[in-house]
Amino acid sequence: MFSEFALHERLLKAVAELKFVEPTPVQAAAIPLALQGRDLRVTAQTGSGKTAAFVLPILNRLIGPAKIRVSIKTLILLPTRELAQQTLKEVERFSQFTFIKSGLITGGEDFKVQAAMLRKVPDILIGTPGRMIEHLNAGNLDLKEVEVLVLDEADRMLDMGFAEDVQRLVDECASRQQTMLFSATTGGSGLREMVAKVLNNPEHLQLNAVSQLNATTRQQIITADHNQHKEQIVNWLLANETYEKAIIFTNTRVMADRIYGRLVAQEYKAFVLHGEKDQKDRKLAIDRLKQGSVKILVATDVAARGLDVEGLDLVINFDMPRSGDEYVHRIGRTGRAGNDGLAISLICHGDWNLMSSIERYLKQSFERRTIKEVKGTYGGPKKVKASGKAVGAKKKKVDAKGDKKKSAAKTPTKRKTANRPKTDAPALVSKDGMAPLKRRKPAAPAAE
Ligand code: AMP
Repeated sequence: MFSEFALHERLLKAVAELKFVEPTPVQAAAIPLALQGRDLRVTAQTGSGKTAAFVLPILNRLIGPAKIRVSIKTLILLPTRELAQQTLKEVERFSQFTFIKSGLITGGEDFKVQAAMLRKVPDILIGTPGRMIEHLNAGNLDLKEVEVLVLDEADRMLDMGFAEDVQRLVDECASRQQTMLFSATTGGSGLREMVAKVLNNPEHLQLNAVSQLNATTRQQIITADHNQHKEQIVNWLLANETYEKAIIFTNTRVMADRIYGRLVAQEYKAFVLHGEKDQKDRKLAIDRLKQGSVKILVATDVAARGLDVEGLDLVINFDMPRSGDEYVHRIGRTGRAGNDGLAISLICHGDWNLMSSIERYLKQSFERRTIKEVKGTYGGPKKVKASGKAVGAKKKKVDAKGDKKKSAAKTPTKRKTANRPKTDAPALVSKDGMAPLKRRKPAAPAAE
């Protein structure tokens, strides 16, 4: 609970107003130390809640009665205009019940307007290094009284070639009492050098459990009525999405084989990888995928581990992975090296709570997508709890493995299942709904 932190009541009021209930892991770890005035070196990603982790302690230090401002007390540096704007917004939201004023200095905005803002002396100045240096050179900026300095996304600032500018600004804040450095990655030698130069006996906090998640990958969910409906959606996606290479994840070998069989029957160039395939199959699949003669891989988690194929830009979670980390592993395969990726999870009612707990784990909200050509009847729970889980959903439905199988057998629509043999696996029907495809193996579903 935020009330457990030694924060001023006006800040707690803002936190409550923003409906923040539980601190995120980075907030829980960093806020108490930052309140003590410690230097911090934090590895955490955008989306982890790191902004509040440094903004709240800064505001707590500055809070007090209205007075004439004579100097900038806090400097927050970020690599891009967008991040700086977002941070300003967050600062303003948290300081809404205080007299603390903040200002923004980034490229692409009117220099004179910024100079006028600086003459009014904000308590907190937020911005990008390049434009800050220009104001420094123009004599508009005095950082001599800065008490707290924050370098946010420091690794990215270095990547973008701001090392010298940052160092100069750091040197300007000569009488600072506290420095906090945040980065999404542990960084290379440049970052280590900066940490050594800039921080004073810092506390290291490493909160990168979800750090492999690529920011350039869009994450979507599409609701589905049952497995057969999921297959229709997969078909639509493979036929209509733009992608270079796609990977379809299932939780069981049987499902992987089934989808593979269906794809091959439709003359897709596909491969399947699961625990029953040997090293030779695996190598062949990966080689073909790399060469580009195969565009689609159907795989279980175990089989896909360590797979690194360029141009893999579409991930379809036919089954939702059973944990947040597994999700990160799967999605981590797309959007590599700055390329855009698309990750789509197909969600039946039995998958919903698992999906929402993964959203919470990642502190992200997946984009809800509907495809009108393959729209089903299930669109998510009628009512959700604050946690995002379905109201009234029984616990056992969350258990992805066993239950999904059952619900897949129970839930199919009456119309399509009328003539289907009694089995826990949905019938295989080809794209045109004509001849059932041959089942490849009679084996029982085996989790990987
Ligand atoms: P950040 O990683 O700082 O960019 O934060 C990501 C998003 O999470 C922002 O929209 C924040 O407003 C939001 N956020 C941060 N901390 C919390 C929290 N404890 N509870 C709910 N939302 C939060």
